[in-house]
Amino acid sequence: RMNVRKITTGSQALDGLLGGGIETRTMTEFFGEFGSGKTQLCHQLSVNVQLPPEKGGLSGKAVYIDTEGTFRWERIENMAKALGLDIDNVMNNIYYIRAINTDHQIAIVDDLQELVSKDPSIKLIIVDSVTSHFRAEYPGRENLAVRQQKLNKHLHQLTRLAEVYDIAVIITNQVMARPDMFYGDPTVAVGGHTLYHVPGIRVQLKKSRGNRRIARVVDAPHLPEGEVVFALTEEGIRD
Ligand code: ATP
Ligand code: MG
Repeated sequence: RMNVRKITTGSQALDGLLGGGIETRTMTEFFGEFGSGKTQLCHQLSVNVQLPPEKGGLSGKAVYIDTEGTFRWERIENMAKALGLDIDNVMNNIYYIRAINTDHQIAIVDDLQELVSKDPSIKLIIVDSVTSHFRAEYPGRENLAVRQQKLNKHLHQLTRLAEVYDIAVIITNQVMARPDMFYGDPTVAVGGHTLYHVPGIRVQLKKSRGNRRIARVVDAPHLPEGEVVFALTEEGIRD
């Protein structure tokens, strides 16, 4: 694919799994259970996008849309420090936005078009998590249709931002045993994977021993199969 650029995750193993890192012009989903490392990866990537290209970044800025209130500037500080970056600079290059409900989350993404066209140094947009408000506001089978419709539109909008503005978009999704349970109707989804038709890369994260985590790419014919192990450390994502 033309002109796709990559952002390092901080782990060579995970970068290898992703074909070099997180791609621009693409929406990448990290899904997995609580504590599997989704939010830590989001923090790390919002720092790493700022690295120069020779160090695996894009000398870019990040937009961090936080729906769960789990963003911590202190983690950004630790990660920036570990990379020898100027902490104030790194913090200034992250647009932090707290989304309080689905309408707000959707409105924020509506407004991003203006922000990213004004500031072409924005190279990363994160929505952590993309599903939590939708899940809370449209629970259960009875709300499935409207939930899917609203979420699909939101995801398409994010994908379009990625493609038009050469931005890496990252979404997270807390999923327990089966990744299909939320997006799709569980009765239809068995073996059917996602029911939303959004191009992109889906990465499943799983807990392993201690600070070790396992990553696996699903449904990506252009990427190697298999799993890799990485670590969540005080300094950030590492091998
Ligand atoms: P959820 O679905 O609940 O949002 P998540 O996938 O976002 O979960 P994270 O918050 O990314 O999970 O991961 C939490 C884990 O990150 C902790 O259990 C711990 O192992 C690790 N972690 C968090 N902060 C630090 C730190 N300062 N030093 C080392 N490891 C940390
Ligand atoms: Mg999280």
